[in-house]
Amino acid sequence: MKRLNGIRLPRKKRTEEKPIKPIPLPALVRIPMLMHSGTPCTPAVRAGDYVTVGQCIGTAPDENSVPIHASVSGTVSALTEYCTVTGETVPCVEISSDGEQILCDTCTPPVLESRDDLIAAAKASGCVGLSGSGDLTFQKLAAVKKPQILIVNGAECEQYLSADSRLMSETPEQAVGGIVLLMKLLKIKDARIGIQTDKPLAIQRMTDACKDEKGITVCPLPPVYPQGAEKVLIYHTCGIVVPEDQTAADMGILVLNVSTCAFLYQYAQTGIPLVERVVTVDGDTIDKPCNLRVPIGTPVKELLEYAACHTDRVRTLLCGGPMMGMLLDSQEASVVRQQNGLTAMRRAKSSVRESACIRCGRCMEVCPMNLMPMELNDAYQRRDPAALQAEHLRLCIDCGCCSYVCPAHRQLAEKNQQAKLLLQKV
Ligand code: SF4
Ligand code: SF4
Repeated sequence: MKRLNGIRLPRKKRTEEKPIKPIPLPALVRIPMLMHSGTPCTPAVRAGDYVTVGQCIGTAPDENSVPIHASVSGTVSALTEYCTVTGETVPCVEISSDGEQILCDTCTPPVLESRDDLIAAAKASGCVGLSGSGDLTFQKLAAVKKPQILIVNGAECEQYLSADSRLMSETPEQAVGGIVLLMKLLKIKDARIGIQTDKPLAIQRMTDACKDEKGITVCPLPPVYPQGAEKVLIYHTCGIVVPEDQTAADMGILVLNVSTCAFLYQYAQTGIPLVERVVTVDGDTIDKPCNLRVPIGTPVKELLEYAACHTDRVRTLLCGGPMMGMLLDSQEASVVRQQNGLTAMRRAKSSVRESACIRCGRCMEVCPMNLMPMELNDAYQRRDPAALQAEHLRLCIDCGCCSYVCPAHRQLAEKNQQAKLLLQKV
């Protein structure tokens, strides 16, 4: 099978052999009411209320949202505001932990007997895409009307990040349990788990864990970035090309991250909603890179401290990895549900000056969506919506490959993001 374009990144996975450890319980968590793509939640508690782990503290106001739950037991110390990575100011619930981690008595395993039960459970649990996307999982499940194939994303192609591969190596039975559950309730007979070949332990553990399960195949994939991008993953695991005017769901394909599958399994067993997650902490200002299990809302500065970060040298702090991570403007930011990594770098992201395009074509060669990034860039400079559409801007997956290879250091991917905002306003 022909390989889709992409780039080979220098391998920086210092944490791949670091077991997942729980971070010491924070004294205070700040939980923003927007930790998914969609509408912010409405706070369901007031200052002074006592809350327990798993208690709903933010209700979903519409069908573009899922509830948010307390990650620690304790007292709501304040209702404040929070500026998200996308620049939105949303309500925020601050909880002072009592150190007891008392579980809410509503946390009981859900009844799961049908597709509708699964969709309802994904919604009630606050499940979102755990690979950084923050997509609402219940919407993804509902969008696939006639599911044929489940593709599980275990590629983890970003530099530094290893939260997914540690999960697959340490607790593969949870990931496979989630896959079996999804296959049963959605009546899917074919599941494929895409894992890059640079994660041999994860491949072996996942292969062992599903050897007695019918219809599940582990697909070793070349270590190429962005292997985990949906259309790239579908092509490399099944050989199916998703046409420009269709989605994976239209073709009966459901793509979920491996940690999302594992979470759904845990929720089915315990009824505990999404209140913690695994975060890889790394970067060239970090002395002790690690994988931490963290209550949602923990201040990122506590993760940096745990990982022996030289905080005075940090010039770029990212929620996620260096290629697709979103800039955090402060070490006071909170860990959010969709956050798979915290990357702390010495160099400012845009510290090198752009120069004129030399029409070398490298950006075009690496684009996994076969776009012409230099043409998109020209169209954006002219603020030309028609040209942006003609160059298929909407297919851009923000992978950053074009910017990475450009010898003129042009911020092509970043400009594409701005161009998308421009098109929204037209
Ligand atoms: S890689 Fe940079 S210099 Fe080369 S064609 Fe693309 S934008 Fe121009
Ligand atoms: S144009 Fe978009 S999809 Fe193509 S390489 Fe650049 S960021 Fe990636």
